Amino acid sequence: MTTKQILSWQQALQQCVSSLDELADLIPAARDLICKNAHSAFPFKVGRRYLAKIDPNDASDPLLLQILPQAIEMKENAAFSADPLQEQHYNPLPGLIHKYAHRVLITVVGSCAIHCRYCFRRHFAYEDNRPGTKGLEAIYDYLRLHPEVNEVILSGGDPLLASDALLYAITQHLSEIPHIQRVRIHTRLITTIPERVTPALIDALTHTRLRSIIVTHCNHPRELDEDIALACNTLVQHNISLLNQSVFLAGVNDCAKTLVALSEALFSCHILPYYLHSLDPVLGSAHFDLSLKKQRALYRTMQKELPGFLVPKWVKEIPGEKHKITMR
Ligand code: SF4
Repeated sequence: MTTKQILSWQQALQQCVSSLDELADLIPAARDLICKNAHSAFPFKVGRRYLAKIDPNDASDPLLLQILPQAIEMKENAAFSADPLQEQHYNPLPGLIHKYAHRVLITVVGSCAIHCRYCFRRHFAYEDNRPGTKGLEAIYDYLRLHPEVNEVILSGGDPLLASDALLYAITQHLSEIPHIQRVRIHTRLITTIPERVTPALIDALTHTRLRSIIVTHCNHPRELDEDIALACNTLVQHNISLLNQSVFLAGVNDCAKTLVALSEALFSCHILPYYLHSLDPVLGSAHFDLSLKKQRALYRTMQKELPGFLVPKWVKEIPGEKHKITMR
C-alpha cells in the first residue's frame, strides 16, 4: 500500500515497519549495517512515509541514519549515560516531570511512531511513568497546589498517539486549573504521519481557553513534504502555534546548507524553528555527537544566511540548571 492510499492515521501507524528483514528489503543499502543487538537495546521502528523518503541505495542517507540500529551504538562511552538529563530526580509523580519553575511535563504515552536512535529518553522507564486515569487525577491535584506553573507540556513517547478523547479530557481538566495558560505538545507525529491532523484532534486542542502550541521535531529538510505542509496549514488556521526543535546530529545535519534549508522548509510548512539542541549524551548515541567547534561554525553560518526569525536558538540542557543554556 502506498502512503497515498492510507486512509487514517491509525492505519498509517499500524503499517509502521519494525522488522529488520523488511528494512533490509526496502533499503538494501542498510542490510550490512543493521545490528540486531542495537535493535534489542532499543527496537527499530519507522513509518512508511518517512521510509519512502530514504534513498534505498545510500547507506549514509541522513534520514536512514536517524532510525538505523547500528553496531556503533553498542560501544561503551563514559561520557554517555542512560539518563543524561537526570529526569529521575524531577519525577514527583508517575508520568510527571517538574524540572523548571513554571512548566511541567506529562509523559502521556510511552510509545512513538518512530524510534530516533539519538532519543534522550531511549532508556526512560516508561513502564513506571504511564499515568493512566488515576495518575492523571494525581497530576491535576499536584498542579492545583503549584500556582507558579502556567504551562503544561504533553510529551512521551509521542503524546499524539493518545486518543483524541484522552487529549480532549486532559485539555479540559487543565483548563479548569486557573493558573494554567498554555498546553504545549511535543510530537514527531505531525511530520511523520500528518494524517494525525483530524477535526477531532483540532477539537481536542481548541475547545478550551488554553493556548495550544505544537512543537514538531524535524532534523532534515527532506523529512518535510506537501502533505505535511497542508496538515500544518490546517493547524495554523485553527490558531495552533507551530514551532520546531531539532538536534545537531553528525551525518544528518552537520552541514550549514542543510540547516539553512531546514529552516526555510519549516517556514514553508508554517513552522517556526525554535530550538537547535546540542545532543544529549544518552547511551548509544555517541556517534551522532559533534564537537562544539563544529556546532558553533554551523550556527554562525546559519546566522549569516538566514533572517533572525528563522534562526533557532542553539541550546543545551544541563541537569540541575534552572533553564536550558543558550549556546554561543
Ligand atoms: S519521537 Fe521523540 S520521544 Fe520518540 S523516539 Fe523520537 S525523539 Fe524520542
